[in-house]
Amino acid sequence: MKIKFLGGCNEVGRSAILVDDKIMMDYGLRPSTPPETPEGNGRVHPESVVVSHAHLDHSGMVPSLMSMGRDGTPDVYMTAVTSDLAQLLSRDTIKIGKDQGFFLFGPEDLRKMNEHTHTLGYGERVALDGYELELFNAGHIPGSASAYLRKESEDISLFYTGDIKMDATRLMECPSPEDFPAADILLIESTYYGREHRDRQELEREFIDSITETLNSGHNAIVPCFAVGRTQEVVMILHSYGLTPYVDGMGLGVFRTLKNHPSFVRNAKALNDAFGNAQFVNSKHRKKVFSEPSVIVTTAGMLNGGPVLYYLKKIHEDPKSKVLLTGYQIEGTNGERLMDEGCVEIDGEIVKVNMQVEQYDFSAHAGDSELKGIVSKFYENGTGIIFTVHGDDTEGFATWAREEYGCDAISPKVGEEFIIE
Ligand SMILES: [Zn+2]
Repeated sequence: MKIKFLGGCNEVGRSAILVDDKIMMDYGLRPSTPPETPEGNGRVHPESVVVSHAHLDHSGMVPSLMSMGRDGTPDVYMTAVTSDLAQLLSRDTIKIGKDQGFFLFGPEDLRKMNEHTHTLGYGERVALDGYELELFNAGHIPGSASAYLRKESEDISLFYTGDIKMDATRLMECPSPEDFPAADILLIESTYYGREHRDRQELEREFIDSITETLNSGHNAIVPCFAVGRTQEVVMILHSYGLTPYVDGMGLGVFRTLKNHPSFVRNAKALNDAFGNAQFVNSKHRKKVFSEPSVIVTTAGMLNGGPVLYYLKKIHEDPKSKVLLTGYQIEGTNGERLMDEGCVEIDGEIVKVNMQVEQYDFSAHAGDSELKGIVSKFYENGTGIIFTVHGDDTEGFATWAREEYGCDAISPKVGEEFIIE
């Protein structure tokens, strides 16, 4: 089996792993202007594409593969909710491209992707011309999957975690390592290697206390969130503490998509109740949000565009209002700049933000001990080779696995390929 890494190595973004020059596992982009694409983009011709989940760093460039197949359009395999969300997010990428002057793919590619998509449920096996594929719940966002792939002719198998979380959240039911199959090769994400998450309840309490204090003093709280997963999780948290947020941006479209796939969330009723209590805003009614002390849940999670910039522009000078970041801020994004330098770029202008800035780790990724638990489980079941991907310290994680288990653990570089027999 040949495994070639085309992105997402020692970085978070543009995940792309090519197996035997035939099967692409994820094909993502890294958000920037213009977005960064996987290595060799435009020159790869997979026969099949397996998409772990809808986040753009995993699915964002899949449509671009639709018009470049040597022998026609590749087949795409993912869960039904990932398919719907990938369509929604890709339409947005086309729109942003028009505004910012880049072109990655067009509406025709989205149509083809839809036509060539085979949706799979967790635990359903499918034959892929000499391979067997099965998806497992990855607990990261609705529809997220880890992929098990076995090459029949060599009787060799791999397990790709995708982005994974082993602890349940309000939105997601999580897997247990016992659910996973034995595999010869493990490809594991490393986002939180070396870092543990804080106790979730404690974190929620602090988050709510901080927002309540802001509202009681008559000011506003802006909560930037990713559209997929985080917006829904945060709206559920706010609802459970009796707070009614305004919700603006694509997180609402994502919620409407999830309503069609209730089995992919932990408690569809709780999600519906939370959104039933929220107030939706669109571009015509944004002003009303500041007519009272309010909490606004809005995209983009890393402040790279979206309605959040409108709200920041309006109240950036108010030192008693707050920005509560809800996740990891990738290097080079507005969110990172806000934390490091106290300013953001809006419409090409650098704006100093006097608001209070706080960060809460509502991560949908496995923490350090969960990641190590996964490695340990696979090792016990006979895994001999581990590749650590998708993180800032993939090398550290690989070193840990080598020292702990004496197995072959590799932190691959972009462009590297490995032949495993
Ligand atoms: Zn993700």
